[in-house]
Amino acid sequence: MDDIKFFQNVQTYVDQAASFTQFPKGLIDQIKACNAVYQINFPVKIGNDIQVIEAYRVQHSHHKLPTKGGIRYSDMVNQDEVMALAALMTYKCSVVDVPFGGAKGGIKINPKNYTEEQLEKITRRYTFELIKKGFIGPSQDVPAPDYGTGEREMSWIVDTYIQFNPTQIDAAGCVTGKPISQGGVQGRTEATGRGVYYGLKQACSHADDMKKIGLSTGIEGKKVIVQGFGNVGYHTARVMAENGAIIVGIAEYEGGLYNAKGIDIEDLKTFQLQNNTIRNYPKAKFVKQSNVLMEHECDILVPAALENQITKENAPRIKAKIIGEGANGPITPDAEQILLKNGSLIVADLYLNAGGVTVSYFEWLKNLSHVSFGRLDHRFQEFSFNSLMNMIERNTGRKISDQDRKIVHGASELDLVRSGLEDTMINAYENIHEIWKQHKSKKMSFRTAAYVNALNKIGAAYMELGVFP
Ligand code: GLU
Repeated sequence: MDDIKFFQNVQTYVDQAASFTQFPKGLIDQIKACNAVYQINFPVKIGNDIQVIEAYRVQHSHHKLPTKGGIRYSDMVNQDEVMALAALMTYKCSVVDVPFGGAKGGIKINPKNYTEEQLEKITRRYTFELIKKGFIGPSQDVPAPDYGTGEREMSWIVDTYIQFNPTQIDAAGCVTGKPISQGGVQGRTEATGRGVYYGLKQACSHADDMKKIGLSTGIEGKKVIVQGFGNVGYHTARVMAENGAIIVGIAEYEGGLYNAKGIDIEDLKTFQLQNNTIRNYPKAKFVKQSNVLMEHECDILVPAALENQITKENAPRIKAKIIGEGANGPITPDAEQILLKNGSLIVADLYLNAGGVTVSYFEWLKNLSHVSFGRLDHRFQEFSFNSLMNMIERNTGRKISDQDRKIVHGASELDLVRSGLEDTMINAYENIHEIWKQHKSKKMSFRTAAYVNALNKIGAAYMELGVFP
């Protein structure tokens, strides 16, 4: 596994796509390069010891500012990984028309080995190191949650940032994925998983594409295996199940669960929260080797944990017809070749998991505008709908039931966020699909089409910047 170079893999994908664009090599080289890499080692007192903590923030592309991307806490963090993830953020933002450059941060710790108080100390010190060098700020670089972090860490970050910038009116926009009470937006936590659902739903709506891989259209009735039951995996499984998919397998790092009749996702989540594990869950078969679960029979496989999970070693045994990349980089380029040859449709990460950053964009907009979505028009909409229904009642002489009246209501912040997310995912899919369809005879993959879509927009932005006189 160590020989897999994640950043190089992303470069390989860009090179494949570049041959379908008209941009000169120098411009492609500039797009590919990481614009700024910041590596920090800082001391933190843990118990009676002083520990040196290794951390990173990489800004991959300054062609649009601020740069944007999550912060990961994992003992596997290294510079190559953070650079690759930062680069993916640039392409991801471009695909979904989020006007940011890509960035990523990482702290090389296993959060499970630290108390909450120690994690707070590490997070606040890391934030201070970012402030010191201009690697955080609403107009510079805006972090968010990623593997091993969530609302709690984001609230420590925003609080530290405000302490150092007490008069900055837009300070809350220095980080996204915050709790609502600290300027977060409704629907951010579920956004990546919900986006995965919207993306897969769109993929499954194309009758021609489904026919080619021997599937019917629609999500309903599709058998799904999800790898990872953290934020992305859980919400993907939940929203897919709510919309009629049958979740037959859930794979976690400690082993997996399989039930051909479907797993009740909420029930499993409750079990996991109570027991701190998914082991011994009574309503599904336990599969010791988590990775083997991905090889079980299913229609859709969603790797939603970490990178490099499907390699040339296990790719030949994957049976899923659709692989939806909830995680970043879960399939290596060699593995992708094998899967494509076997006829699978791979709905690539830079498109499929872009729901998180899309809603982060909405949160940042909310912070800059200092007003929640729907606040101005919610009551007006409700009043208009009700007036319309009253008019229908008067003119038809028939009463509209309370039940029916509830169907129309003023849009809440959550309604608007979900609607904006769904619209974004549908439009981006169709734009990529158009490129894919045009080049299908040249055996272009969906991933390459997504990269072409991203490169065209980033290249055009560079040209407009006039950095190449
Ligand atoms: N960490 C998430 C990702 O990989 C979200 C990034 C963000 O919201 O800025 O896309």
